[in-house]
Amino acid sequence: MIANKIQVARRAIMKSSYLVCLQGHDTSTDRGCFDYRDSNAVYDIEEKYGYSSEEMFHAGFYNTRPEQFFKYYKQEVLGHIGTPGKGALALAELERRGILKCIITREIFSLARRGGCENVVELHGSIFQNICSHCWKEYPMEYIIRAKGVPLCEKCHRPVRPQVCLVGEQVDNARVTRAAEKVEKADVLLLLGCTMNQKLVTTHLKYFDGNKVILINPEEHFSDIKADIVIHGKAEDILPRIVYGDRKDDERE
Ligand SMILES: [Zn+2]
Repeated sequence: MIANKIQVARRAIMKSSYLVCLQGHDTSTDRGCFDYRDSNAVYDIEEKYGYSSEEMFHAGFYNTRPEQFFKYYKQEVLGHIGTPGKGALALAELERRGILKCIITREIFSLARRGGCENVVELHGSIFQNICSHCWKEYPMEYIIRAKGVPLCEKCHRPVRPQVCLVGEQVDNARVTRAAEKVEKADVLLLLGCTMNQKLVTTHLKYFDGNKVILINPEEHFSDIKADIVIHGKAEDILPRIVYGDRKDDERE
């Protein structure tokens, strides 16, 4: 029974002293964010740009064809930045209550922050951070959207680079370290929209010394048995039930 599992997860979370959440990228595609790996868009993208999304979302492509990169980036990536949903709001509530200490995510659309969370480690950076590659001046996302062609710094006329991790690039070391430190302190780990075998999870599990792993993922996977509590469903639907409780949910309806 899913309601029982939600109760068990709710108890573990409410009792925890240092809850850390790991977010897989499924949680962002669900919210309408662009995904360069989206197989449904492959044909349209190639037709439109002459290259695949995988090729264009690559550091090598950014370096050698910046004009084409920004055309694609502005239209496809910044054209689909999604909206934070009930899941992100529930996480923000857990943070406000002092239970959730950190969210570690690979999505680049800052859904958790936009949903009200403050302690977020964005491993792959964020579309909202854009920095001149020469003088480090910062620019808002709107500056990138408005720029004709390659966005250039007002001061030094060098390209302004979105601070997102492109394919073929290393994840920023400081962020990796910060994430590992948070997981080391955690007593409960909450995994959303991923499997126990995904790299995001296996990398961080090495640092985990707590007592419970809670996994919320729509699909069943053979690695599910590695988690202590498994709930098959979307974080979007399950998290509010965990945070506010089922009864309160019923009252609202
Ligand atoms: Zn500059």
